[in-house]
Formats: sequence, structure tokens, C-alpha cells
Amino acid sequence: MTHTIDTQLVHAGEDGPRIAGAVRMPIFQSAMFEHDDNPLRYIRYNNTPNQLVLNRKLAILEGAEEALVTGSGMTAITGALLSVLKPGDHLLAQNSLYGGTHNFVTTLMADLGIAVSFFDADNPDTWESYMTPHTRAVYVESITNPLLQVCDLEGIVSFAQASGLVSLIDNTFATPYNYRAVEAGFDLSLHSATKYLNGHSDLVAGAIMGSGELVRRSKNTLKHLGGALDPHACFLLHRGMQTLALRMRQHNESAFALARFLAEHSATRRVNYPGLTSHAQHDRAARLFNGFGGMISMELTGGLDAALAFTDRVNLPILAPSLGGVESLITRPAISSHAGLTAEERADAGIRDDLIRISVGIEAAQDLIADFDQALGAIPS
Ligand SMILES: *Cc1c(COP(=O)(O)O)cnc(C)c1O
Repeated sequence: MTHTIDTQLVHAGEDGPRIAGAVRMPIFQSAMFEHDDNPLRYIRYNNTPNQLVLNRKLAILEGAEEALVTGSGMTAITGALLSVLKPGDHLLAQNSLYGGTHNFVTTLMADLGIAVSFFDADNPDTWESYMTPHTRAVYVESITNPLLQVCDLEGIVSFAQASGLVSLIDNTFATPYNYRAVEAGFDLSLHSATKYLNGHSDLVAGAIMGSGELVRRSKNTLKHLGGALDPHACFLLHRGMQTLALRMRQHNESAFALARFLAEHSATRRVNYPGLTSHAQHDRAARLFNGFGGMISMELTGGLDAALAFTDRVNLPILAPSLGGVESLITRPAISSHAGLTAEERADAGIRDDLIRISVGIEAAQDLIADFDQALGAIPS
């Protein structure tokens, strides 16, 4: 019998019988293990007890054959890409990637002789024109940062299958609760587990989920590069992950309520949230996702002065980068995630200097709304 994700998060992949009867998975703080009938067990090989329980659980969450917990989201992304692509190959990448991924594919990967073309993942008519005899893979994100666009995910899966490409998706923003990317047909689903999967802003980790063959290839690549998650961080991630469904329901609900409030407020010029009917891909998000997630971005009618005054006045959210924790965070992408771009590149990407990004935590929505209301009421328009 297949259980729902709430039950999978608690029970799937756990050792049975429990180790020494312990209800909670103990921390095996040991780099290596005695020889037995198993292959060499070593933390860098990603086959020690605290890693194995997470690998089993992560796979089940997206209906994948296998999964791998990694030392960071970037380890998952770079390890997966380097296991799929070799010098001379060509990658199609969505034109609005997470900053770290954008930097990797344009610098280190380029130095290795792997070419990349950035494409509009919402415009299928153009995709064929990017294909070369060396194109091997296509890479997208389930919800983009910071404009929260939802590209033609179904089209990408069919295009990859028809063209013999490996399809990879960064599913960090949606999480397996809102979108099971592997079940939807992606070959590899990648996560920064630093964000929602762990949910408590107290560690850095990542995950790779997908077909057995592709996950094993990533595992071999990462044996060379390192980047394995240590047992204590595995324990924390395991504990955090078990409440993913509870947390995501609250993130989905509070962000939706806050987005509706903000969209109707006269101090906002634009609110980006896939749950709003004003969102360009709202229908697709409603069809594909189990919820619209915890991320919102907005522009204020008063421009940059208003944005600065707002971030100064608002009390509950912490002014900090990153996302996906129990506490609400706000940041201006122009000075954080997209500070590495030139002003012109940011303008091309539609990221204005006054854009504010909000990671809505699990505080009561009414308290967040009241706080945003007082802050918006006190800013220049
Ligand atoms: C944070 C993030 C990453 C990088 O993850 P780390 O855990 O910081 O290495 C990759 N993709 C997305 C969408 C992210 O938000």
C-alpha cells in the first residue's frame, strides 16, 4: 500500500527492527566501519547508517528509484551536472537560474569545455533551435527565484524524452510536498535541503533523487569530489524533514493569505505569487502543484525609498538571505542573491532594485499581515 507523504516523512526508509530498539535513529559518529560482508563503509562514500536512512527516505518522497543526501545544495547540483556532462557536451539551461548554479555553469563548467545555452523554458516553439549534436541535458527550476515563475514543466519532460536529453530540475522552492518532480517525469530532481527539507535554518545540505543509474553516477562523481553530509547534520536533517508536510501546509496557507493581502494593498505595485490569479502561470501552478509555496516577491509603488523604509519598519521578518525556515525572512535580491549581476543584467532579468523577496515562515498569518500592514502604512508612496 502506498502511503501519503505525511506518513512517508515519518516512517519511510526507517530501519526495522529499530537499531538497539531506539525509536529515534541514533547518530553514528564514526568515519569508517569494521569490515563485514558489505562494501567499504565510509562517510565520503555516502553509505553510513545516518546517510542510508536519509537516502531511502528521500527516494520515496519523490517516487524515485534512488536518492543521495549531499553536503550542500550546490554539491547536489554540481555533482549531478558533472556526472551527466563531459567535455564537448552542451547543456540547455533555463535563463533565470539560482545565482550559484548560474555561476557554476558559466565559469567552472565552461572551463571544463562544457557549453551552455540559456533558453526561455516557457516558450516551447524556440527549444528546437538550441539543439546541437552535442546537447545532452536540459536544466530548469520548478519555481524561479526571485520572480516565482513556473515554466512549462510538462513540456520540458516531453521535449527531453523526445530528444534523448537527461532532464534535471532544481525542486528546492516547491519541495516534494508541493511537486514530486521525479514522478512527473524528470530524470533527476535536485534540492538545497538547507531550505524547506530541513526547515530550521541550522544546517547546509542537499539531495539528488532519480533513476538508480543516474543517482549512482552522481554518487561516483561525488566520491571524487567529496561533499558528503556528516552524521550529525544527517541527524538534524532527518529530524527536520519529518515535519515537512506540516510546515509546508502552513507555508502554503500563510504565504497565500499574505500575498492576497499585499496584492490588494495600495502601497504595492506588483506582487509575484503563483497562487494569485494575476500570476502569468497561475493555471499551470494550480494544475501541477499541491500548494503554491512559501515564497513571495513584490515591488512597492514608492520604489526604492519605499522598499528601504518598509524593510526598516517591518518587525517580524528577519532581514537575511536564504529561505525555507520556520521564521519569515526578507531580502532585496539586488543586494543579495543577484548582487553578482550588473545593473543591466538585473534589469534584463526583470529584477528591479526595489524588489523585495519574502520567505514566509510558519508564524500565524494574521500576525504577519498585521506587521506588514503597519510597515506599509508608514512608508512614502
Ligand atoms: C539555496 C539554493 C541552492 C544552493 O543550495 P546550498 O544548500 O546553499 O548549497 C540551490 N538552488 C536553490 C533554488 C536554492 O535556493
